[in-house]
Amino acid sequence: MPRPTYFGAIEAGGTKFNCAFGLNHEAILEQKRIATVHPDDTLREVEAFFDYCVEKYGPMQSMGIACFGPVDLTKSSETYGYVINTPKPNWSFTPIVPRLEKRYGCPIGFDLDVNGSALGEMRFGAGRGLENVAYVTIGTGIGVGVIANGKSLNGLLHPEFGHISLHKLEGEPDGVCKFHKNCAEGLACGPAIEKRWGAPAETFPIDHQMWKSQAYYTAALCNAITLAYSPQRIILGGGVMTQPHLLAAIRKEFEVQLNGYVPAISRSGCVESYIVTPELDNMSGIAGAFVIAKESATNAVSQSRENDLAAV
Ligand code: ADP
Ligand code: ZN
Repeated sequence: MPRPTYFGAIEAGGTKFNCAFGLNHEAILEQKRIATVHPDDTLREVEAFFDYCVEKYGPMQSMGIACFGPVDLTKSSETYGYVINTPKPNWSFTPIVPRLEKRYGCPIGFDLDVNGSALGEMRFGAGRGLENVAYVTIGTGIGVGVIANGKSLNGLLHPEFGHISLHKLEGEPDGVCKFHKNCAEGLACGPAIEKRWGAPAETFPIDHQMWKSQAYYTAALCNAITLAYSPQRIILGGGVMTQPHLLAAIRKEFEVQLNGYVPAISRSGCVESYIVTPELDNMSGIAGAFVIAKESATNAVSQSRENDLAAV
């Protein structure tokens, strides 16, 4: 019987690294959550986990990493596979991919965390059957992953759409982002709500003005995403979106702001299937990391075929 093909998957977040080893996200053999502390300590533990898995089951065909940003995704760059200039202490210019590549000698796919969640939801969750989706996380920050024609959209950097400027509602304090006066993240991520409204989001009653404001900014963000990227669906995840009443308020406000500009969305009932919440719960990122791993294995095979042909 042929040996199963194993993959390594890492959802590398700002608070924890969620590591998994297995055949896919539904057949995980080993899994471990490791705190994101100093990179030396975190990566040492990550390696200990995968060393253990490889020793127990056999080598990995490839690995996939969906990492907090900003990350360098340009293959020809000297810092490809690094976390780059992050405000997270000690993590700037950490060579995650080169370090794991050296240790495991297998192809490693690398992408931004929200792109990973977007890929996971597109393949297996709320974006099934589509090729153009945006995944938005509204939690400790606001991140937007964009999949265009089945691939995550990355260019010079990767989209940083959470930092787009929004129109601030009158009478409210400024946003709290260090870089921008009134960007989406500075107005509407979890810590922004806490600073601007004086208490954590989860403590506000559902009829509080804060939620009206939150629906307004989230709808404005969805509006901008719609106009910029034209996704077939927007998936809203993250801690703040776990409030059940929020989704309906966002959809309603979104329709007001879009004002019929995109007929396919304005048709009756369409906004309900256009703006949705994730289906994979807390598995979107790790499912995406397995997708990234498998894509990197496929790319490595086609690259080696091309090299063989070039050598003939
Ligand atoms: P991370 O972004 O680090 O992955 P989360 O997505 O859980 O983490 O986001 C954390 C933020 O979400 C916090 O600012 C918190 O106030 C907010 N949050 C967590 N749970 C809820 C909830 N049930 N309702 C509203 N906000 C919440
Ligand atoms: Zn900002």
